[in-house]
Amino acid sequence: MNVHDSEMLAALLKADGWSVVSNPESADVIILNTCSVRDKAEQKVFSRFGILKEVKNSRPDTCFVLAGCMARAWGKTVLKRMPFIDLVVGPGMLHKIPEYLEFPRPSHPVVQIDSSDTVFSVDPELVDIQNRYSAWVTIMEGCDNYCSYCIVPYVRGKERSRPENDIVNEVTALVQKGAREITLLGQNVNSYNGSANGFPELLRKIHAIPGLLRIRFTTSHPKDMSDSLIGTVAELPKVCEYLHFPVQSGSNRILERMNRGYTRENYLNRVSLIKRLMPNVALSSDFMVGFPGETEDDHCDSVNLVESVKYDNIFIFIYNPRTKTRAAGYDDDIPLKVKTQRLEDLLKRQRRISMERNRDLIGSTVEVLVEGPAKRGENLMTGRSRQNRVVNFTGAVKSGELCYVMIESVSPNCLYGCLA
Ligand code: SF4
Repeated sequence: MNVHDSEMLAALLKADGWSVVSNPESADVIILNTCSVRDKAEQKVFSRFGILKEVKNSRPDTCFVLAGCMARAWGKTVLKRMPFIDLVVGPGMLHKIPEYLEFPRPSHPVVQIDSSDTVFSVDPELVDIQNRYSAWVTIMEGCDNYCSYCIVPYVRGKERSRPENDIVNEVTALVQKGAREITLLGQNVNSYNGSANGFPELLRKIHAIPGLLRIRFTTSHPKDMSDSLIGTVAELPKVCEYLHFPVQSGSNRILERMNRGYTRENYLNRVSLIKRLMPNVALSSDFMVGFPGETEDDHCDSVNLVESVKYDNIFIFIYNPRTKTRAAGYDDDIPLKVKTQRLEDLLKRQRRISMERNRDLIGSTVEVLVEGPAKRGENLMTGRSRQNRVVNFTGAVKSGELCYVMIESVSPNCLYGCLA
């Protein structure tokens, strides 16, 4: 979502007469659009601004903007650590940045971190998707779930959905500009409520748009993954058989402490229905290791879950406390060494499973949406399968087209083959 927000912000600024330069030394304005979901992301921003400060030393009129979730999380207190910032703008106020950059600018730092009742979007005519066949569309923003470790509800605000017609019009315009695949974005797309019948109805409306070949969406909260939604995803051919389905932990005790709103059994029940209705589905997930109070038994529950679901891919994060969240009041009692060991344990198992799952595809034919020449490997083209696997292949086919590739060899992260 941050990448897409940045893309939309760049489009707004271009429409206002600004242009992108290739190095910070020649910029009049430098914007870092930030994430605060993990401490590491924030530390990177401090470090990046620390380096960029040199630009301010040599060109004091350069305007420094801290935008996004970190701006909202820190507010004006961030100026104590970075007094050279000129503008602090939360995610709800991104659309105002062009206005704030107009002259004359105030001589003191401006902090605008109010929340918003709407979802940030811009006219798709302004967004540059040249040479890209996959585009993002935000359908909802914010979250009301308050998982005990998560800062998102405090920085992105309450859940709000865009009206169905706005989304359908935006997707239609993007398809007319050349997009072949659309990824619908939201903190919890399953609870989208801008259509009378929620997310399944929105999927149907988007599915009917001529020229669109593929639909993806992220992120799905397991507690809101209804039978109706699973049935709709399975029924609509343009919706890809790939679901990012974050579980966070395999232990009921930890899931409860995380306030996730489902049990391991509920989650596995959803997985089983998804697999029954979509035998070719690829699943990915997020896991958090070292949550306060996580015992070796709790970790084993996560290991067992990974082994039994057989995800195609998982993203593993080491727990660290975020301010304002409930878990920040818990004792962060798992030593970093143990957290790291648990991360490596899950990662090692997942690498093996990913390799096994990919090996099963050798000799089969997969549908690929072609992105262009591969970064590595001479004369190789690259694209993604419906299951979101990277596929590198030989053969002449244009970017933006669908083709079929016979799989000849695999790595844990990639499939290799030739045009079928
Ligand atoms: S569902 Fe939980 S983890 Fe996801 S954004 Fe909301 S509070 Fe954060």
